Amino acid sequence: MRMGLFGGTFDPIHIGHLVAARLAKEALQLDRVIFIPSGIPPHKSGREITPAGNRFEMVKLAVEQEPDFSVSDWEIRREVPSYTVDTLESFASQFPDDELYFIVGADMLYDFPNWHNPGRILEICQVIGMTRPGFALDECRTLLRTSMLLPEHRIHFVEMPGLEISSTWLRDRLRQRRSVHYLIPDRVIRFIEENGLYDRGHDS
Ligand code: ATP
Ligand code: MG
Repeated sequence: MRMGLFGGTFDPIHIGHLVAARLAKEALQLDRVIFIPSGIPPHKSGREITPAGNRFEMVKLAVEQEPDFSVSDWEIRREVPSYTVDTLESFASQFPDDELYFIVGADMLYDFPNWHNPGRILEICQVIGMTRPGFALDECRTLLRTSMLLPEHRIHFVEMPGLEISSTWLRDRLRQRRSVHYLIPDRVIRFIEENGLYDRGHDS
């Protein structure tokens, strides 16, 4: 099986994530994609993050009607923040017969050489970089090519329609009680309303 792994804060999940997962799956002929909400992301410690249980639930609601998408609680069950490489090691030992692909937006891929142990990441899995407005995939490719001695053929670039939306922007809209219809799945919007998420106290 070819398995896509898609990590993120998902605070909240939105169509940018879902389209990226769907088109990555199609482009690399993956059999399934597992979304992996993060525990406590160290790079985002400047703001209050929605409790992991709620972020997990939102991803679950967003994917539960897609037979080839699922959500894992592996990272949120850990008490310490996980490096991507640790998560991938764990999935590799859980699924030794599968071929793993890690899906990331171009904004994250730009920084790939500075991740913890990128060489090991590319041994464990292949990486799929997805278009994200503001981050040219071509530039990203050149940058990765020139900045590291990594097996380039293990990094794939997939063009998708640029969706200039982020969870940050959506949190802002939710706080201002502006519409997020079509941008976040209906069931997730209902969960947000029912649980009073993003009302106040969060940054942007
Ligand atoms: P935040 O604004 O809180 O950082 P985000 O929208 O960037 O939220 P994350 O949970 O940080 O969402 O992202 C998870 C993964 O999804 C990352 O690899 C990110 O690059 C990718 N991603 C998020 N939004 C998009 C988008 N609109 N298009 C393509 N990839 C995206
Ligand atoms: Mg982000």
